Amino acid sequence: MAKKQFKAESKRLLDLMINSIYTHKEIFLRELISNASDAIDKLLYLSLTDSGTGLSRSDFYIRIEPDREKRMLKISDNGIGMNKEDMESNLGVIARSGSLQFRDEMEKGEEQEDIDIIGQFGVGFYSAFMVSDKITVISRKYGEEGGWKWQSSGADGYTIAPCEKETQGTEIVMEIKPDTDGEDYSRFLNENSLAALVKKYSDYIRYPVQMEMEHSRNKNAGQADAEPEWETYREVDTLNSMVPIWQRNKNEVTEEDLNRFYKEKFFDFEDPLKTIRVDAEGLISYKALLFVPAKASYDYYTKEYKKGLQLYSSGVLIMDRCEELVPEHFRFVRGVVDSPDISLNISREMLQQTRHLTAIASNIEKKIQGELEKMMGSDREAYEKFWQAFGLQLKYGVMAEFGAHKDKLKDLLLFHSSAGEKLTSLAEYAGRMKEDQKAIYYATGENIQMIASLPQTEYIREKGYEILYFTDEADEFVAQALMAYDGKPIQSIASADADLKTDEEKKEIEKQAEENKDLLGFAADVLKGRIKEARISGKLRSQPVCLTAEGPLSFEMEKYLKQIQPENEMKAERVLEFNAEHPVFGKLKELQKTDPERAETYVKILYHQAELMAGLPVEDPSAYCEMVAGLM
Ligand code: ADP
Ligand code: MG
Repeated sequence: MAKKQFKAESKRLLDLMINSIYTHKEIFLRELISNASDAIDKLLYLSLTDSGTGLSRSDFYIRIEPDREKRMLKISDNGIGMNKEDMESNLGVIARSGSLQFRDEMEKGEEQEDIDIIGQFGVGFYSAFMVSDKITVISRKYGEEGGWKWQSSGADGYTIAPCEKETQGTEIVMEIKPDTDGEDYSRFLNENSLAALVKKYSDYIRYPVQMEMEHSRNKNAGQADAEPEWETYREVDTLNSMVPIWQRNKNEVTEEDLNRFYKEKFFDFEDPLKTIRVDAEGLISYKALLFVPAKASYDYYTKEYKKGLQLYSSGVLIMDRCEELVPEHFRFVRGVVDSPDISLNISREMLQQTRHLTAIASNIEKKIQGELEKMMGSDREAYEKFWQAFGLQLKYGVMAEFGAHKDKLKDLLLFHSSAGEKLTSLAEYAGRMKEDQKAIYYATGENIQMIASLPQTEYIREKGYEILYFTDEADEFVAQALMAYDGKPIQSIASADADLKTDEEKKEIEKQAEENKDLLGFAADVLKGRIKEARISGKLRSQPVCLTAEGPLSFEMEKYLKQIQPENEMKAERVLEFNAEHPVFGKLKELQKTDPERAETYVKILYHQAELMAGLPVEDPSAYCEMVAGLM
């Protein structure tokens, strides 16, 4: 029999398939099962429109038959089938632009190590050549007499000849390649691995995917006093669950079902904190089932963690992790999206498809944001648990891309504050603001107690203004990205005091500064190289001194930078502020005249104390201790 040649295009694709270094060769099974499902769809459609077929949905099946001895794998269906012409035009050429696209990508990416492209594109029938040296297709078209046999060993062409076939449908018979060092092809002949692959890729195919499998049973079951005696038997199993949980009616699915589904599918031990169902109909229809985990996985804040949702097209898995579907700031969300508008051959109309994905992604983002906001309002306990796990992610989200997403995220943030033990949102803070309050104030420090006892917070609290307590390194960067909330600037108390003073207070400070010029100059000299300036403070009450940071860098930022980049010498500009009303100040003033040497020691000690209160490490602890001991 004369061999026919594949069309040039197809030949190239075939070569690529045969010599594929692609690691996910297993997807050939998904492709063949999806073809079988398509073929059944077509015949079922005929039955629904042309009552003559007498077939109904329950008559259809897809069957997998491995034969280990002969190294043959057969996939059959009782769908519409193919005649000679169909085989010519469907199996002899690249029928689809999807495959073409794939071929182009493949050629471009030949040097790439992991060409994940097959997973994304429906590569179709030819993918069978990744695991098989010789393929036979036996098919009989519905409503026609006799069958046809198509055979090919790949690149050298194919033959078509008439053959016997009793019923309509198609059988694809593959001679599975011998195992090599790098590839275990025998797994495609193993019942259990095949069953697992069906579960993984084709679980939601709408027709039963069946395979005869080995089981065991107790022959003496039912006889109470008999020893169990095990025997094996074979039975046809349906491997797929057919109706995905997200396609079922809401009232048919319990919370427990959803939780179990989540845990099995996404390998978590804990129930999700929140389950979100989306059922969108319209220009683009899709169903989504989304989960917010209760905890961040151990690798969540590392590069190992990969975001993305599973993408299905009418029950067929297209991508295990479609990154485009979730924005970076919600990367903790797990789940599935199923849209009939995304075709299996995702590249068929590439642009259109990308647009669909973008539209779905933006819908999903809004939905997640809305649900989280709702949760913050209605179930604060759960929200705080969420915040515990993923708050940092949201903070990163605010900072990312120069604050591009801050408006979506600002109402999801929580902070400690001087208002009480509970975390507060910015909206809640704004609701408590005093009428004359012009800004949202924050102070930074290692922990709440430390911030609360910062000398410079006294003045603002005295005015009755609430202060946000920033204990997390990221907080201050978040504040800088946000800049304002609800039209109110978010200000550090360090830079806030100037704005808060009345003209009278300012005049008073100026007066004191003038009066104490000498002493301030003296202190600045003593601390040369350490501080930028010594100043009279308007915000101190019970403490004699405090250290404030001037310029763009705060002490917390300085510490943070030091931590991530120890060699970094960037320092916040230090200003030592004196409380002119404090007795210590009077004493110092006196000493400067009578005993300058002692005054110098005093200044140094005060400076170190200010460092300690600001949560900064004392530069030279032993010198400090000596000085204090000397005084005693
Ligand atoms: P696609 O499924 O995207 O059309 P494939 O390469 O997977 O592309 O398959 C090519 C064509 O071969 C199908 O469109 C279909 O016409 C035909 N075909 C493949 N498998 C079967 C089958 N089991 N039954 C009937 N026709 C099939
Ligand atoms: Mg296909």
